[in-house]
Amino acid sequence: MSPAAARQAFFDRTHTDDLIAFLGTSPSPYHAVASAAERLEKAGFRQVAETDAWDAAAGGRYVIRGGALIAWYLPEGAGPETPFRVVGTHTDSPNLRVKPLPDTGSAGWRQVAVEIYGGVPLNTWLDRDLGLSGRLTLKDGSWRLVQLDEPLLRVPQLAIHLDRQVNDGMKLDKQRHLTPIWGLGPVDEGSLIAYVAQRAGLEPAEVVGWDLMTHDVQPASYLGRDRELLAGPRLDNLLSVHAATAALAAVASAGGAGLPYIPVMAAFDHEETGSESDTGAQSPLLGNVLDRTVYARGGTPEDRARALAGTVCLSSDMGHAVHPNYTERHEPGHHPLPNGGPILKVNVNNRYATDGVGRAVFAAACEKAGVPWQTFVSNNAMPCGTTIGPITAARLGIKTVDCGIAALSMHSARELCGAADPYLLASAIKAFLEG
Ligand code: ZN
Repeated sequence: MSPAAARQAFFDRTHTDDLIAFLGTSPSPYHAVASAAERLEKAGFRQVAETDAWDAAAGGRYVIRGGALIAWYLPEGAGPETPFRVVGTHTDSPNLRVKPLPDTGSAGWRQVAVEIYGGVPLNTWLDRDLGLSGRLTLKDGSWRLVQLDEPLLRVPQLAIHLDRQVNDGMKLDKQRHLTPIWGLGPVDEGSLIAYVAQRAGLEPAEVVGWDLMTHDVQPASYLGRDRELLAGPRLDNLLSVHAATAALAAVASAGGAGLPYIPVMAAFDHEETGSESDTGAQSPLLGNVLDRTVYARGGTPEDRARALAGTVCLSSDMGHAVHPNYTERHEPGHHPLPNGGPILKVNVNNRYATDGVGRAVFAAACEKAGVPWQTFVSNNAMPCGTTIGPITAARLGIKTVDCGIAALSMHSARELCGAADPYLLASAIKAFLEG
């Protein structure tokens, strides 16, 4: 079979259609975990509270903490020393987030003060129609999701007539030039939160806290002559969250009989800012969940150590496809392309956790799934990004492999990848989880 025919054979548009829907209902990390939970519930998973005592019943369970979700499927007959297979992802994406006192303005314009979250290519947020989403926290500490999908805000670019040098390199001041407008009139203090509260069906006085962020309201879509590409927001890293959810749900739906591992999915928040939070990969969240499932099955610290020693984590996150207009930025011998299958990410300075043994695990999963795969390594002159992979490996002492999908425009408000790759990734993750 030719590579093109192989790709076509694997092109499951149903999976990619569902990813497009997932992106649309997941404008914030809080929404992403809700979207994942909805799919897990359909596959028979049930939510458990961290504050409850956990039992050892077989089946699917998940916990949600803020914008993070950990789900696992306990097969019938798993012992306390049974190792785990963990697929790790993150739910957050770089964007513009609402400041504590958001109502501001200048020269007759009403504006919203925003803070920049993560590594944002600022120009990609100009002249886009932006919605608002996130969560509103009530006096009793509970919170409600809110998603306003119509054009509410916009960061208007300066006209070229007022900036003749713009094409020689745009300079954007993070404080002065990124403040979105949302209407005309004098600054009306308290009006943004009051408006959002009302839209969520709440009395403004009930809302005492908020975590709100902007998103491009244009939905994700297929792109290209043959619709073989996928353009959309938050592909980094909701593509992986969606693939991991689909893979874990598929493993659970198959019944899990005879599984040598306990399949686990970890979707962390705050990867884009260094993972240092109670919901990030540096937190004890994943470790606590794994430990508690061991102890719930009557395991001892010895069982826990044995389980973790046999555990492997597959960290999945977006990577760079070779850019046709900037090929010199890439490693000349490693040119991942969209729809060539998932990429194995390698960096000997441990920006990625992959080593030769990890490569073998990844290759075996792809081979079992019948999925082609590629390798990514940076050009030595270009600093390499990193992922939750090395953090998880160091934090839990578990064998970890970094993989992902080749994309262009990473961290842009609208990214681009192959439309067949999400299914190929999900298939590889499923094979990995099954062991
Ligand atoms: Zn990422």
